[in-house]
Amino acid sequence: MMDDKKEAARLRKAAERERKKALGSVEVRVVLSQKEVERLDEICQGRARLGAEPYSRDELITVLINKDYDRYQVQLAKVQKTPCPKCKKSWPEGCERFFAGDSKCRFHYVGYPLAP
Ligand SMILES: [Zn+2]
Repeated sequence: MMDDKKEAARLRKAAERERKKALGSVEVRVVLSQKEVERLDEICQGRARLGAEPYSRDELITVLINKDYDRYQVQLAKVQKTPCPKCKKSWPEGCERFFAGDSKCRFHYVGYPLAP
């Protein structure tokens, strides 16, 4: 029984490696603090469906990147399509912080409209 589980896990990992290879995946090294690792592991466990295996760190980071990429694209499209209501400038030109400190201008902080 235990051997079946190990074999299933081995096959799953081998299939995952093949999928990643087919996608042209690149290994990226990231340095995290101990607190960030604890948080990552907590959400790997907490975000998993009930009864399912927890997400691996790789899987969860991939999900987060793809979700933020989608969110970023929506923000970018909105910012590009709609001029700032205060200075009437569009992204990415902006008003070079002419209204710095005035929160009605979306360029009052450098890069503000697309900050995470
Ligand atoms: Zn503005």
